[in-house]
Amino acid sequence: MSESLKENNTKIVKAQKLVGVKGMNDILPPDSARWEWLEGQVRALMARYAYRNVRLPIVEPTALFVRGLGEVTDIVEKEMYSFEDRLNGEQLTLRPEGTAGLVRSVVEHNLLYEGGKRLYYMGPMFRHERPQRGRYRQFHQIGAEVLGFGGAEVDAELILLANDLWKVLGLKDVRLELNSLGQPAERQAHRAALIAHLEKHSDVLDEEAKRRLHSNPLRILDTKNPAMQSVVESAPRLLDFLGEASLAHFNAVKAILDANGVAYSINPRLVRGMDYYNLTVFEFITTSLGSQGTICGGGRYDYLIEQVGGKPSPAVGWALGVERVLELIKEQGEALPDLAPDVYAIVPETATLPVAMQVLQALRTHGVSAQMHAGSGEGMGSMKSQFKKADGSGARFALIFGGDELAKGQVTVKSLRDGLGAQRTESLAHVADWAQSLQSPH
Ligand code: ATP
Ligand code: MG
Repeated sequence: MSESLKENNTKIVKAQKLVGVKGMNDILPPDSARWEWLEGQVRALMARYAYRNVRLPIVEPTALFVRGLGEVTDIVEKEMYSFEDRLNGEQLTLRPEGTAGLVRSVVEHNLLYEGGKRLYYMGPMFRHERPQRGRYRQFHQIGAEVLGFGGAEVDAELILLANDLWKVLGLKDVRLELNSLGQPAERQAHRAALIAHLEKHSDVLDEEAKRRLHSNPLRILDTKNPAMQSVVESAPRLLDFLGEASLAHFNAVKAILDANGVAYSINPRLVRGMDYYNLTVFEFITTSLGSQGTICGGGRYDYLIEQVGGKPSPAVGWALGVERVLELIKEQGEALPDLAPDVYAIVPETATLPVAMQVLQALRTHGVSAQMHAGSGEGMGSMKSQFKKADGSGARFALIFGGDELAKGQVTVKSLRDGLGAQRTESLAHVADWAQSLQSPH
């Protein structure tokens, strides 16, 4: 800054560089190609299961999450980006997850009046956590939710859908953990036994666990504190408190998974982060991403719709973390989708630009991906430098719009990859005839 002040006495002060918010990432090429590819795979798969897309606001009333997720949860206690609308004083929150907003929308628009719905969403979520690999403050979820159906078949369908998604994305090393949280009355009985057990071992409970002991003891089972693992492992199992109906539901889910060859293990300590779950809960976990290994979690939430003011109606869903899934794909060494254009246009003189760009437009309408050489504003640059750019672009062919060829109604096509250097001329009047020969095989 002082340099620029010294150099000229007009007071142009170099602006200080601005940086993005910690834990919130820019998704740039070539990485963004992987995101687009993943989203495309998801859309295609959702269509095959007849799930329909919803696009919901990123900002919701704070009360929705406090009521929906539960006050004694990581998210509501410490992770929400909440603020007051300066103009009208409304309490608002950047959505930390997608289910509450989706349920709010379904209730508000009375979407269940004509029967159940299968829906999905994709988009950014916000949680004020300590940023680390696989844990960001703005991250992205894809969620699938089925509302209005109470049967085990939709729990199983959602798991089959996620399992299929791992297949189309080529994910290896993903395992499924399953549990049942039963119904509120069953949890009540378990809760008393759990509190008694935890009180017996109060010396190893951390501050958070002590705080939750009487408000939300079940959540203590979800602790990541290694010092508490043994007390948590020896805790009474919720599964042992389930009544007949809950067990039948759980068994029905398992039977469908068994019949479809989906492997799972029962994890009696799997409780999930939000209060709204009941009956089936599940997580897909990988060991390849260290401690941020849960790539997808979900379960049944039959009481949430009523809790946000709707007519009581059962529901079940899951959400996956896009960053973690993409990390896993990268970890497996999967190549990035090829971003190279089919052709790179080399234009020795500015005078030929109008014709060159006309030809590129024609090629593009025939499906060719064409990158135009762009100059500095003072001419197009030397042929040598243009060829260097063409090579750098990864294009399979260079189109050379030389004056002599153009005068004959022709353009030179030069191979930059296979058969490097091979050269031919094509007619500008018949672009449709040769456009296809430029396209990379898909
Ligand atoms: P964790 O136990 O890792 O904090 P969670 O139980 O809070 O996860 P959910 O609320 O169930 O996570 O969200 C579903 C998925 O979203 C997670 O399994 C994970 O893949 C992803 N996810 C959650 N929080 C983050 C985050 N801060 N950054 C990136 N991905 C996240
Ligand atoms: Mg969390």
